[in-house]
Amino acid sequence: MRAQFFQNIGAAGNIGQATLNLLMPPQCPVTGEAVAAPGKLGPAGWAALHFIEKPFCGRCGVPFAAEYGDSVECPSCIAEPPVFDRARAAISYNEAARKVVSGLKFSDRMEYAGMLGGWMARAGAGLVTRETLLMPVPLHWRRLMARRFNQSALLARSVGEVSGSKVLLRGLKRTRATPPQKEIPSVDARRRNVAGAFAVDEKYRAAIKGAHIVLVDDVLTSGATASACARVLKRAEASQVDVLVLARVVKGGAGAI
Ligand SMILES: [Zn+2]
Repeated sequence: MRAQFFQNIGAAGNIGQATLNLLMPPQCPVTGEAVAAPGKLGPAGWAALHFIEKPFCGRCGVPFAAEYGDSVECPSCIAEPPVFDRARAAISYNEAARKVVSGLKFSDRMEYAGMLGGWMARAGAGLVTRETLLMPVPLHWRRLMARRFNQSALLARSVGEVSGSKVLLRGLKRTRATPPQKEIPSVDARRRNVAGAFAVDEKYRAAIKGAHIVLVDDVLTSGATASACARVLKRAEASQVDVLVLARVVKGGAGAI
């Protein structure tokens, strides 16, 4: 509705945005300080974010304290390999990351999606190719109605714009609503919470068969949601299922849950 409004007023839209910036100066999502344009971070906001760089687990992407080589996996991946093939994240989940994620979820800060998609495309450079099918983790329709948009779909579209990959927004669906994973304390209970909660949409079964899929989500915590999605995609004969998220919880790190 708003986009159409700006389209209709054409060139006056720029003046409208400038006026809007004067009335409501754009803010850094992390610190709240004024910034030059919407979708920008202030210097303190940048400093508070922790971008994940190598070395990390070749499978789940959890950062390592020392370099062991690209194909080395962390103890939990060795003990219990996840259903997905690889996961990568742009930033560690800490208080600053929480603010960026909640800004994307709960406010009209859709302008941030472009910046965040750029971070994710960089983190997923080893995973995402032009042949990749990007698929967001779906929201149940009731939550979608309440929030008005699926933040994972917004991120998937933004990554697709950077990488040139195709985005399949509705290939997966939720078959039932589940309580948010962050409200569930144990990994086992999280697994049970999302078990059987996803299904492939029959309309897209042919597109999924044989495809390299990268699931897109905002936060990776226990990996239970990503694994539940990967399971149904592999049953639908996807050739490979990787995961790309904005932020991941690093056990023992700031903001670990
Ligand atoms: Zn791992």
